[in-house]
Amino acid sequence: MTDLDEYGRRARAWLEANARGLPRDADLTTAKTFMAALYDAGYSGITWPAEYGGQGLSAAEERAFQEAARDLTLPIAPFGIGLGMCGPTLISIGTEEQKRRHIRPMLRGEEIWCQMFSEPGAGSDVASLQTRAVLDGDTWVVNGQKVWTSAARLADYGLLIARTDPDVPKHQGITMFVIDMHDPGVTVRPLRDMTGDAHFNEIFFDDVRVAPDQVVGEVNGGWSAAVTTLLHERVSIGTGAARIERPASYAAMAEAARERGLPADPAVRDQLVDLYLAERAFDLFNARLAQEARAGIQPGARGSVAKLLLAELTMTGADVASEILGPDAVASEGRGSIAAALSFAPGMALGGGTNEIMRNIIGDRVLGLPREPQVDRGVPFRDLKVGTQEKEAGR
Ligand SMILES: Cc1cc2nc3c(=O)[nH]c(=O)nc-3n(C[C@H](O)[C@H](O)[C@H](O)COP(=O)(O)OP(=O)(O)OC[C@H]3O[C@@H](n4cnc5c(N)ncnc54)[C@H](O)[C@@H]3O)c2cc1C
Repeated sequence: MTDLDEYGRRARAWLEANARGLPRDADLTTAKTFMAALYDAGYSGITWPAEYGGQGLSAAEERAFQEAARDLTLPIAPFGIGLGMCGPTLISIGTEEQKRRHIRPMLRGEEIWCQMFSEPGAGSDVASLQTRAVLDGDTWVVNGQKVWTSAARLADYGLLIARTDPDVPKHQGITMFVIDMHDPGVTVRPLRDMTGDAHFNEIFFDDVRVAPDQVVGEVNGGWSAAVTTLLHERVSIGTGAARIERPASYAAMAEAARERGLPADPAVRDQLVDLYLAERAFDLFNARLAQEARAGIQPGARGSVAKLLLAELTMTGADVASEILGPDAVASEGRGSIAAALSFAPGMALGGGTNEIMRNIIGDRVLGLPREPQVDRGVPFRDLKVGTQEKEAGR
């Protein structure tokens, strides 16, 4: 048995003893207790640097742990944004103090984090954002609104991007900050979506005072900071590290078709084959990214391929489930049910960047096709007459 086999065997034994049978919709206290136990057992932050509280191990151990946890539902959803996006961003570009202050509590589930990028008028074109941070002495004062912020209702901290210089082109005048979500002037309002849950929220900033040591990366260097977060987000969602549930898997749908005596129907067989192929393509692509990670090759923009494949796989699963299960599909209830998967599926094609934006990135950064025309290139944000500035320009 290799060391890695032994690592996987120990992880499986720990998970069997501590995670088997936990409810899918565990409450926050149960989730936090589980996260602390996961950390204390050495399975949270497996690849994160040891000096900040991670385990300092390789992608191979991470993969062995993910394999061991494959058929389990871990109650770690509230921590997904912190672990998948905010933590890796702080490790890449945060100050020493920010890393020492936040990484360990994040890994132990003591701090919940959110990511505040999208605004009512700035989603795909997030660099058009209007939330502003203005210096008052050495303190930044933030005003504006964010929207679609996952987990903000529960969050203790969040990464915010705000405009700090409107006199330069839109990508150049943005800064990233750590925001304490309990600070005066931060108002979080849950938004109920069609799953029946309030997965995301809108956030209002009214004269929120932010200390200079809460800047992440360089002042006015927030665009490259945001790209760092988004690359981590796509890899985390796309490679399954974010553990997005897919109850409409090929195995589940093939079984449901057999129970209903449907596999003889050529149309159903066709659909099942489509689902099988989408699942295989997704698994093989991710196996390749994992192998490359072991060899020290980062996925970069190819995280967008994984994210797009997962969104398409989720939608294919939802279509197949509604065909095969018919009305039974919507009769199921609760987190992890087919009904919840059906209503969450379209969100997968939007959150973390839409399918169209993923295709643009893949065309541009992976395939080397010509870039989209950019009419706002080189124009100071204040003078723009497009995007969120169109209204300001009086149109
Ligand atoms: C489940 C979920 C969770 C989310 N969580 C967060 C979060 O935690 N934090 C956060 O900041 N945001 C979050 N979002 C917001 C998400 O990032 C945005 O919804 C997304 O970036 C799209 O922005 P938009 O909704 O403003 O749509 P728009 O940008 O207005 O897009 C509308 C349509 O136009 C298309 N389109 C736009 N531009 C182009 C283009 N250049 N080429 C081709 N087509 C284009 C889009 O693909 C889309 O179909 C979440 C969204 C969802 C669904």
